[in-house]
Amino acid sequence: MTDEKKVENLIVVGGGPAGYTAALYAARANLEPLVFEGFQWGGQLQNTTDVENYPGYPDGIMGPEMMTQFRVQAERFGTRFVTDDVDRVELSDGGVQKVYLGDEEHLAKTVILAMGAEPRRLGVPGEMELSGRGVSTCGVCDGAFFKGQRVIVIGGGDSAMEDSIFISKFANDLTVVNRRDEFRASKIMHDRAEEQSNIDFKTPFVVEEFVAGEDGKLCLVKLRNAETGETEDVDTDGAFVAIGHTPKSEIVEGQVETDENGYVVTQPGSTRTGLGGVFAVGDVVDHIYRQAVTAAGTGCMGALDAEWYLRDTPPSPEAHWMPGGEPAEIAPTPSS
Ligand code: NAP
Repeated sequence: MTDEKKVENLIVVGGGPAGYTAALYAARANLEPLVFEGFQWGGQLQNTTDVENYPGYPDGIMGPEMMTQFRVQAERFGTRFVTDDVDRVELSDGGVQKVYLGDEEHLAKTVILAMGAEPRRLGVPGEMELSGRGVSTCGVCDGAFFKGQRVIVIGGGDSAMEDSIFISKFANDLTVVNRRDEFRASKIMHDRAEEQSNIDFKTPFVVEEFVAGEDGKLCLVKLRNAETGETEDVDTDGAFVAIGHTPKSEIVEGQVETDENGYVVTQPGSTRTGLGGVFAVGDVVDHIYRQAVTAAGTGCMGALDAEWYLRDTPPSPEAHWMPGGEPAEIAPTPSS
């Protein structure tokens, strides 16, 4: 049973690199953070194989293993985890923050929103089954695995152009497959992709299926002409689905400011939202960089912002009657 009267110093919502790093820093500052990490803890890295671009792992590391290490490190300093999805929150400006699992209410003086984002999927056969075995949603992460090979990139926005330009440094042949003849990408990005001699464009085509070879890896993509309906098989070693991301911000919609795509808006150079005591970090904010290392960096910022907020903010009148409602005593952060 939850003690409904306890007011946590900090609740972190989300268990990816941003959430776990926030928890690590907050735990080392004696804030005893409570992390609602979700059923699918680990975030997008849980669906990633080799991670070769996270500093400190010279031989690379598997995504799920890296997330386990993040989690263990945060736990070592007193972080508590709940492996469940938050159903809703009631956020306030400087008051007690409320986080709900079903009817179970958890109270906190500060909340760090770290729910992340998820890549949009095509929803076609083979896409999930071959994820990490030829099908990827992250060009920067996986492009280098396709040296000298044949790759397709699906999408017509800036992400697809950027991924294509990056992957074309490794791949022999790269085809951008877009469902319309027009491209959503900015002209400059589209032009840059067109300038690469090994990038071709195939429009208006959609993917019908990703097909595995005998080795269990992607070997073929079935395409359909969106206008004529004609189908075509294309031999392919790698396919990058770059049709955008969706921030997982539903639970805070209407409570904190979000942009037109649903990303939480924070004050420039900080993790502060418009609500006192509510901070946001990682991919639920960041639609530009979206890397594990940048998410971890903003997780650190979020914990420091929460720590300074607790230090500098008198208790809310709402909280004074609750045990734990007094201002947090914050030990000096150990220098790393
Ligand atoms: P986006 O602009 O929403 O583009 C998504 C693309 O995927 C569109 O071409 C869309 O086609 C296509 N698409 C969506 N669902 C599809 C489906 N089910 N099947 C096939 N195609 C589908 O997303 P984004 O490219 O990730 O960019 C998001 C934001 O980040 C944009 O504001 C962008 O400018 C920005 N960004 C900037 C940079 C940069 O400047 N370096 C890099 C990356 C992203 P339709 O056009 O037909 O809808």
